[in-house]
Amino acid sequence: MKSLKGQFFYILLFLILFSALSFGLILTYTLYKSEIKQAKELIYQKNKAVSFFVESYFKKFYITLDFLSTLDNVINAQKLNEKEKENTINFYKKIQEIDPDINYLYSAYENGTLLIYNYTPPEGFNPKVRPWYKAAIKSYPKISNGIPYKEIKTKEWLVSMGKALYNKDGNLTGVVAIDTSVNKINELINKKDNNFDSLYSYILNENQEVIFHPKKQYISKSVKELVNKNFDFSSNEGYFEYKLNKYDKIAYYTNLDFLGWTVVTVVNKEEIISKIIHGLFFPISIVVFISISIGIWLTFSLYGKIITPITKLKERIQKIASGHLINNDFKYPDNEIGIIAHEVEKFTEKELYRKNIELLELNKKLKYLSERDQLTDLYNRHKMNKEIRKHYYNFKRYGRPFSLLMIDIDKFKNINDTYGHMVGDEVLKKLAKILVKNVRKSDVVSRWGGEEFLILLSETNLEQAIEVAEKIRKIIETEIFPKDIKITVSIGVDSIENYEHIKDLLIVVDEKLYKAKENGRNRVEY
Ligand code: GH3
Ligand code: MG
Ligand code: MG
Repeated sequence: MKSLKGQFFYILLFLILFSALSFGLILTYTLYKSEIKQAKELIYQKNKAVSFFVESYFKKFYITLDFLSTLDNVINAQKLNEKEKENTINFYKKIQEIDPDINYLYSAYENGTLLIYNYTPPEGFNPKVRPWYKAAIKSYPKISNGIPYKEIKTKEWLVSMGKALYNKDGNLTGVVAIDTSVNKINELINKKDNNFDSLYSYILNENQEVIFHPKKQYISKSVKELVNKNFDFSSNEGYFEYKLNKYDKIAYYTNLDFLGWTVVTVVNKEEIISKIIHGLFFPISIVVFISISIGIWLTFSLYGKIITPITKLKERIQKIASGHLINNDFKYPDNEIGIIAHEVEKFTEKELYRKNIELLELNKKLKYLSERDQLTDLYNRHKMNKEIRKHYYNFKRYGRPFSLLMIDIDKFKNINDTYGHMVGDEVLKKLAKILVKNVRKSDVVSRWGGEEFLILLSETNLEQAIEVAEKIRKIIETEIFPKDIKITVSIGVDSIENYEHIKDLLIVVDEKLYKAKENGRNRVEY
């Protein structure tokens, strides 16, 4: 049998765990949604800020280059005299002073001339083979966006932009260019975010090559090299996801149209999830604590009110059923269960008491029926045997003798044949009464067989027994039975004094009876 207590505990435990788990799942889902939303919002804002900054940062250089490329002194500087060249360099100097983001403003020409302030080119310098010079010519009429490079002298990160110069006849004369420090951009994209450690921005050029990245090792690498595919930047801006070095990333991009660059801001999904796990720890601890507290409280309160009365009832009913008395000092709780338990107990007790009484009466009846002959109400042969044994032990122990009279109705068959069985029965009944009436209370009268009666005379020796037998024979002889029938009996008599065993005595009284019949009936033999 499974105990109610254990089942109760397991059900409660299951309920608690189930509710805690459900709560945890709902919480995790909500938190995940809100964290993802927050992270997306954050990368969007960051991306917009970086885009705005980069765009406005470079726009002014474009305007400057566009403007310079229209000036005659710049376009045809190779034809100017030294004084005029000096003036142009001074003009460059002035512009540099106004905008500290410009590191170098310079122009170079097809004949090898270089106009630049405060810079001496190395021996054999040929501007026409420099990458920035070629790039400007290649991207004409657009301005070329050079890739960032580290300045040899200052170790500063610079980027060159240049525009090709053409004279009125449409002939190429040279290139005007600006080298700008990209420290501010580097600072901006390297700046750690307070919310997400893994959040950063980087910039790709139109060939999807990295031009700015907080990690220097990625600079000048292509996207294809890094993530095995190109990104789809066909919309102007939007969210996208990719995987880099086993990290799943959520990103937002903005195309900077006039630069041809794309600003990407990205965060690791893993960090969002780890933030959720951190965020979950406290609420889940609280839920677990509350669940356990409720569980303990429920167990104790419900246990006392429901389980205790039921288990107590079980114990007490078992006690009652096994016939034990139960004490009344236990009090059931004052609720429906308590009342039911109390009533069941009372009812069981009452019913069991009634059944016990019934059983006692039934036992008495059974005992009576098992010992009596139904017709005459005398002891039957079985009970008589017991009585004989009892008296035999008394005789053996205390020397108190007893005698037996074996009585048989003479020619009883004739009565049945003449008057019928019913009358025969009436005769037997009356004879039984006569026998009982004419012996002492301490003697035992029994119906031994059909019309055979055995009487045990206690404390009686042979002589006394013969006297009693004679007396009985005479009484019956004179008695008138139903239908005016008269009967006689033959009696065999003997006493236990002469025998070692009951069996021997019984054989002899039977033999004596037979002898009485032989010798003419209505007589006593001993
Ligand atoms: P005997 O003098 O030799 O004893 O002759 P008997 O006819 O009495 O002896 P027997 O043993 O031949 O017959 C006994 C008869 O007793 C037979 C049976 O019908 C009758 N009897 C035995 N039990 C009952 C009973 O319960 N009721 C009635 N009415 N008759 C019984
Ligand atoms: Mg007989
Ligand atoms: Mg007979």
